[in-house]
Amino acid sequence: MAQLSPMMTQYLETKKQYPDCILFYRLGDFYEMFFEDALTASRELEITLTGKDCGLEERAPMCGVPYHALEGYLSKLVQKGYKVAIGEQVEDPKTAKGLVKREVIRVVTPGTITNSQALEESKNNYLMGIVYTDGIFGISVADVSTGDYLVTEVKSERNLIDEIYKFSPSEIICNEAFYMSGIDLDDLKNRLHAVISDLDNRFFSDEFCRKLLRDHFHVENLEGLGLSDYETGTIAAGAVLQYLYETQKNSLEHLTRITPYTTGQFMMLDTSTRRNLELIETLREKQKRGTLLWVLDKTKTAMGARMLRSFVEQPLIHKEEILKRQNAIEELNMNYISREEICEYLNPIYDLERLLGRISYKTANPRDLISFRNSLEMLPHIKHILKEFRSELLTEIEGQLDPLEDLKKLIDEAIIDDPPVSVRDGGIIKDGFHEEADRLRHAKTEGKTWLAELEQKEKESTGIKNLKIKYNKVFGYYFEVTNSFKDLVPDYFIRKQTLTNAERYTTDRLKELEDVIMGAEDKLFSLEYELFCQVRDGIAAEVKRIQETAHAVALTDVLTSLSVVAIRNNYVKPSINEKGIIHIKNGRHPVVEQMMSGGMFVANDTYLDNGKNRVSIITGPNMAGKSTYMRQTALITLMAQVGSFVPADEADIGLCDRIFTRVGASDDLASGQSTFMVEMTEVANILRNATRSSLLILDEIGRGTSTFDGLSIAWAVVEYISNTKLLGAKTLFATHYHELTELEGTMSGVNNYCIAVKEQGDDIVFLRKIVKGGADKSYGIQVAKLAGVPELVIERAKELVEELSDADITARAKEIAENGPGIVAHKKLSKPDEVDLLQMSIFDTVSEEDIIKELMELEINRMSPIDALTTLDKMQSRLRNRWVNQ
Ligand code: ADP
Repeated sequence: MAQLSPMMTQYLETKKQYPDCILFYRLGDFYEMFFEDALTASRELEITLTGKDCGLEERAPMCGVPYHALEGYLSKLVQKGYKVAIGEQVEDPKTAKGLVKREVIRVVTPGTITNSQALEESKNNYLMGIVYTDGIFGISVADVSTGDYLVTEVKSERNLIDEIYKFSPSEIICNEAFYMSGIDLDDLKNRLHAVISDLDNRFFSDEFCRKLLRDHFHVENLEGLGLSDYETGTIAAGAVLQYLYETQKNSLEHLTRITPYTTGQFMMLDTSTRRNLELIETLREKQKRGTLLWVLDKTKTAMGARMLRSFVEQPLIHKEEILKRQNAIEELNMNYISREEICEYLNPIYDLERLLGRISYKTANPRDLISFRNSLEMLPHIKHILKEFRSELLTEIEGQLDPLEDLKKLIDEAIIDDPPVSVRDGGIIKDGFHEEADRLRHAKTEGKTWLAELEQKEKESTGIKNLKIKYNKVFGYYFEVTNSFKDLVPDYFIRKQTLTNAERYTTDRLKELEDVIMGAEDKLFSLEYELFCQVRDGIAAEVKRIQETAHAVALTDVLTSLSVVAIRNNYVKPSINEKGIIHIKNGRHPVVEQMMSGGMFVANDTYLDNGKNRVSIITGPNMAGKSTYMRQTALITLMAQVGSFVPADEADIGLCDRIFTRVGASDDLASGQSTFMVEMTEVANILRNATRSSLLILDEIGRGTSTFDGLSIAWAVVEYISNTKLLGAKTLFATHYHELTELEGTMSGVNNYCIAVKEQGDDIVFLRKIVKGGADKSYGIQVAKLAGVPELVIERAKELVEELSDADITARAKEIAENGPGIVAHKKLSKPDEVDLLQMSIFDTVSEEDIIKELMELEINRMSPIDALTTLDKMQSRLRNRWVNQ
């Protein structure tokens, strides 16, 4: 029977331990993949598939990548969602007896990759652990590239989903209970482009996780870490840590702290609100351009960019914290020159957090240390400028910012200014840093002088004019003599190699010199490597100080960015109140105004409170600017709670615990739900979770269904929201059901607004100005005309409008508003030709006999086919409505 070769046996044994990974197996200068892995990798990486004799009859499929190109290929596979195990040679092949020993030294997965090619600068790369037990979801997220490590717990699936989207992890690990909980994992995977895997139970043992965390943070008990209230969260954090240990196989010293947080610390933003308000990516194109973050982000460093993103995703709810940020921004605004100077010093600062990650991981190369040093050079300047400031937050930052001069000095003294990337080939350590290194370097250069002298001497004594000492890796140093001078070669030249037109020789003296030079070089290279590692470890030991400083730099960056934006875009400092009043004078939509050329945007006021002005019903034709106005109010409120200044002439913002939006008919094709179902699920979520302190933005509720149902739902929703016993939240409610304007005056706290348009003959002009009162017309035909619908259709529509007046439906709505919905008036149809839209709509009480009668009375001969069809359709709808309402 055919026998597997020893190497293949070793390969398969290793592979068995990493069944879910692609195994990169080091063979000489290549990482090779075999069997199934080779098929996958050759397809995904577009590299050639070959075969290798493995002892069996059939050759094993194989493909490979050169070792020096590892990182690029790794990133590609990991970004496509694969996990890769790196099987490295762990013995020197030169000295190994028999088969070289190999071990998996690292497993790279989407949530744990630290390679900068694979990471987006301004975004954290999170691994998330989720544990589900006893109705509680424990959540922990970690970014190994920066050292961020957080933990929390939530009780409902919806809150869990909100947390997941807030962090948008690239990988989720979870326990089986979560995996089987029925949450739509495929949907999550698709939307997040994340891998989700359930891990073995051993990762989730309570005792094991606690011990692991205690050991990692060197503490006796977990209370000190603030984890006592997070039993399930602790398990999630433990599982994340263990997973990191097992994949990274490295010290995780830069995970210096774990931060527990409660979802109640921040303004709650559910997933659809986050999307609808286009905070960090646009709804359709999923781009940054056109989002709030795009407007606010003028940060100079990657750390600042990441922090600003998390600020936007987590607005504050405590007044003091907001004021601290505001005051810092205000002070920066007033000190323009100092602020500009800070910006200049921030500009050259590299991503300290991620550099530190690589330093801790021992993957940082000499150039990384130089980038690190160059960044540190900026710190004393920034600290110095910050000393001028008096506001609480800037003073705090100044205190936290450690100029790390000792580390800068260390790198300055040890590492040359323009070192190579490679750590093994010398050329890293400066003269004067280490005596032995200096001596070896000297011997190496001396040796080179001796070589030159020897070459000169032999040239003269042999008379070979073009005699040269050359070097290559295989043969070392040698004399090269072209064939034309072959006769002059003396006896003591020992032949090493023959080429077509030249011969290569050595001599005893040349060998001697070679030994000195090579010996010195070998020793120097390994000594330099050792010294470099010492310097790197010396920096890694200061991880806490560096992280604090990095945090201070990031915060400085965020605050200066917000200050720059505030001045450039003419924002004001909003006052913050706890009385629930939102009062904005001449507010603007922060993004739309940027998209428009100067001064085109029409500013508008907003006034909402917990009393008489709780609910604004906003009517107006399509395209008038209803959505823009409502989003602008939400965004200004959100910006104020982030601590930012806001686009308005004046603003007083009452703290909101949550903002909810239900905007537009967002197509949710990915989840396979109907638009109406999505809409109603969102409405349900809002009504269940909103509180009196929430701000609700509801756009065209009920649009996704028939007029009859839609109006009824919208009506009932307004009733519910405006009722202080039930909800009483501040609400902007845009609708095309003019009937809802009847609610003003009959329901407390409800007011009508509309966005003004001016009629000009047949056309309309949008004035974009919000005014009191309800719109009396919908101008649908004018808007259709503006959109370029053919004239013929427009004309026909006008005719129809005349016939299908909606006066009756409005009258009916009025009746209900006055008498209450309990009383249903019976409207009898007088004549069959009065069949109009009304009858398919609200509270139609027609009986089946009526419809049969109408049918009998129809003069079919005199009807056009279209008329006949329309009439039939209407009858059918009426019957359906009737049955639904019985
Ligand atoms: P609606 O929700 O009423 O259909 P939108 O809010 O979508 O209308 O606004 C339609 C367009 O009108 C927007 O794309 C925007 O370009 C423009 N617009 C809206 N509000 C304003 C404003 N206040 N000033 C200038 N243009 C505006």
